[in-house]
Amino acid sequence: MNKFLKKIAWYPPAETKISLHTIVDSLFHSEVNCEKILCDYLKVNKCVLGNSGRSLLTTLLVALNKGKKDTRDEVLIPGYTCYSVAASVARAGLKIAIYDLDPRTFVPDLDSVKANFSEKTLAMIFQHLFGIPTPVDELTQIAESMGAYLIEDAAQALGGTLNGRFLATMGDFGFYSFGRGKPLPLGTGGALVGKDTNVLSALDLKPKTKGYVSLMSTAVSQVMSKPSFYWIPEMLPLGLGETIFDPNFDVSAMPFVMQKFAEKSMEVLDELNTHRRHIAKTYEKAFDDECVIPIPEGGIAVYTRFPLMAKQGQIPGKLKRLGVRRMYPKAIADEDTIKPYIANHQAQTPGTFEISRKLITLPTHKGITENLTKEISQKVKETFWNRF
Ligand SMILES: *Cc1c(COP(=O)(O)O)cnc(C)c1O
Repeated sequence: MNKFLKKIAWYPPAETKISLHTIVDSLFHSEVNCEKILCDYLKVNKCVLGNSGRSLLTTLLVALNKGKKDTRDEVLIPGYTCYSVAASVARAGLKIAIYDLDPRTFVPDLDSVKANFSEKTLAMIFQHLFGIPTPVDELTQIAESMGAYLIEDAAQALGGTLNGRFLATMGDFGFYSFGRGKPLPLGTGGALVGKDTNVLSALDLKPKTKGYVSLMSTAVSQVMSKPSFYWIPEMLPLGLGETIFDPNFDVSAMPFVMQKFAEKSMEVLDELNTHRRHIAKTYEKAFDDECVIPIPEGGIAVYTRFPLMAKQGQIPGKLKRLGVRRMYPKAIADEDTIKPYIANHQAQTPGTFEISRKLITLPTHKGITENLTKEISQKVKETFWNRF
């Protein structure tokens, strides 16, 4: 990159590397086999496609609640998670119960999980944040003994595995997102898998659009995400990357054109994940162990971003333009717009408050080279640890 381009370069925080060629191809490709390609990749018999992860989650929760004759109306969710998870529970007409996370590993605090389960718990959701695998065995035991479903939020984890099993396929149900910043960043879409294929088959999502507008907007954001252009959307008040709680999202099937786009893009998924893991390894070497989130034995992570427990404080402009960001601005219990939906206000979630204060995330996408990784690590150290 020449000096001038480097000067104006703004690195986007999220992956956008899906070629325009693939986008154009999706327009002229008449058969759609997206479900089959995903099922084959994941080695499962059935998957359901939706216009987003949250729309699949809310549709699933409504169906499970009906199956339990409405007697169970609480859903246990991590106290630090994507606000869309809370919105899915609210949209399903159910109550949110939260549990704490271990701020060292981001895995559920088992005492907190047990303490916040009740006879009203319909399902427990646990997550593989950044595509880092969360061990499942103890959670399965607890959920089973409480007669509740276990749902894996693998929105950020398509392609990650634990002991040879794909993330999302270990619990009763699991879902993926194809939104911005996710492993397969199509801009729109999601997939749901599960052990009870009867439940999956009964879910009825209707398409609202053909998907040409979604595909166009993905194409535009691809172009705008080039480092020489990305400062433009950053400067405009588009609310890019903003986190808001909004239960009024659109619930529909995955548009036809987006299914074709997904099918074509699956070819590059493993390549994207290999790059992310390689960049993550370079970051890992640069920081002290206690700031880095460990990978459980037998796990292979995706690393949609590289998480780091740093310190409180604003991210300075020089790091922002390299794609460094915080994640969700607040713990669920601290977000005023979500509070009215929370059933267990007495829950103690100190781990999630610590995560919300200290967590920063570094970019791992295809635009990030090894040299850039070193530059980012150095600047992060200077900023948060005053190390030169
Ligand atoms: C993105 C995300 C979701 C929601 O997925 P959408 O497709 O945006 O609805 C849920 N959970 C986590 C952890 C996410 O990152």
